[in-house]
Amino acid sequence: MTYATINPCTGEKLREFQFLDQAQIPTVIDQADKAFHSWRNRPVAERAHVVRRAGELMLERKDELAALITQEMGKRIGDAHVEVQVAASILEYYGDRGPEFLLPTPLTADIGEAEIVNAPVGVLLGVEPWNYPLYQAVRFAAPNLVVGNTILLKHASICPQSALALEQLFTDAGAPEGVYTNVFLRVPDISQVLGHPAVQGASLTGSEQAGTSIGEISGHNLKKCVLELGGSDPLIVLDAPEMDKTIATAAAGRLFNTGQSCVASKRFIVTQELYDPFVAGLAQTFAALQPGDPADTATTLGPLSSEQAAKDLTSQVQDAVDKGATAVTGGGRPDRQGAFVDATVLTGVRPGMRAYSEELFGPAVPVYPVASDDEAIDLANATGFGLGGTVMCSDLERARLVADRIDSGMVWINQPTSSEPGLPFGGVKRSGFGRELSQLGMYGFTNRKLIRTIPAEHALSEPEGRPGI
Ligand code: NAP
Repeated sequence: MTYATINPCTGEKLREFQFLDQAQIPTVIDQADKAFHSWRNRPVAERAHVVRRAGELMLERKDELAALITQEMGKRIGDAHVEVQVAASILEYYGDRGPEFLLPTPLTADIGEAEIVNAPVGVLLGVEPWNYPLYQAVRFAAPNLVVGNTILLKHASICPQSALALEQLFTDAGAPEGVYTNVFLRVPDISQVLGHPAVQGASLTGSEQAGTSIGEISGHNLKKCVLELGGSDPLIVLDAPEMDKTIATAAAGRLFNTGQSCVASKRFIVTQELYDPFVAGLAQTFAALQPGDPADTATTLGPLSSEQAAKDLTSQVQDAVDKGATAVTGGGRPDRQGAFVDATVLTGVRPGMRAYSEELFGPAVPVYPVASDDEAIDLANATGFGLGGTVMCSDLERARLVADRIDSGMVWINQPTSSEPGLPFGGVKRSGFGRELSQLGMYGFTNRKLIRTIPAEHALSEPEGRPGI
């Protein structure tokens, strides 16, 4: 069975790929399991060296990798270069710092010693989305390879060329066969992989629907999972001593990656007295964007990842307008070929409209006025999601009080939510559970194993000598 990748700017079919045959799945898993048993016994410094080398190679191949991303999912070439840099910095960070994160933690013990050591668990399945073809995969793979786990990576069917380029990168960096394996797995075959006894867990980054499915399959097989799902992050504007700067920051938070980021600022919540100038300035910024070829550095508005994504976003916007919201700018699609959608600013969005409760995965944003900080917090939390969020305010104490009351996994003050190699990434509520990156993320698939050492002279001779539990 085959599938094709499509350039979303031109509609051109790029290449065809063959799905992994069901009959081959056990062989691929056995190979990853066999690799695990030698990879886990290599010194951690050697594993870290391979991961660091992959980061160096990624930078050497930056032009080729960025071009592939742009071709496959329509990311503007400048944003694609940023992605390559960020993904490389993650590989380098875990290559450099990973070993120290895995040092044992000593515990207090009455007799002898006790410590927590960090052991790998085995073969892991990563299921990743197309929106950051390199970043998403390395966010999961880099820490886990240093831990000593081995990886089967099922990438989104939109970006198979990037998926293969990444596998090649790890191979060229010195990862032995089976340590990092790209699998062109069909979604229905994920259950076969998670049902295999050698596979110890799964990490999914993707939609709520995919999260529900991976959660069910993992639970059924008693396998651990980390779920990094969607979001509808608020960006709250409490004051704006420099309104132009505030608008530019908010617009960047919404528009980076053409709005297709899980932690994009997807709802703007603006204090009443700033609302009118904010909406006017934002509409002007959005209206000035020019759709064009994402490979052209002059383009300011790229296409979405697929025609279906463009249709989905347009129908969410249309639903709001049909129910009484106003598209201050945008609201439709540019008159040109490709998966383009107008950059859209919506006002008057209310409960009952899809744009109020659903994630808008593209360049469209509702703006809401609020009368107080309490009202801003209530509206920020009036969502099933809980991924990130931003508070814009020159008074850092006030901003911090508001940030503390937002129910999400990450809140950034005075900058749109973003990702850095050493900071934990993940959400609460319907945005999923578990964390990736940082020491927290590194422990996601680590056996935090207790080793309790009792000197031989204190070994029990009588069963009642120490409590049984
Ligand atoms: P998606 O459809 O869920 O796809 C993501 C991955 O899951 C792909 O590899 C996809 O495979 C696979 N998949 C699809 N349906 C599945 C199912 N029922 N069971 C198991 N796997 C399934 O997500 P998307 O629309 O491409 O990506 C955008 C979503 O990801 C947004 O909601 C975004 O917010 C979220 N996201 C979250 C984070 C985070 O860190 N929290 C980061 C980035 C994106 P196929 O491609 O073969 O269908």
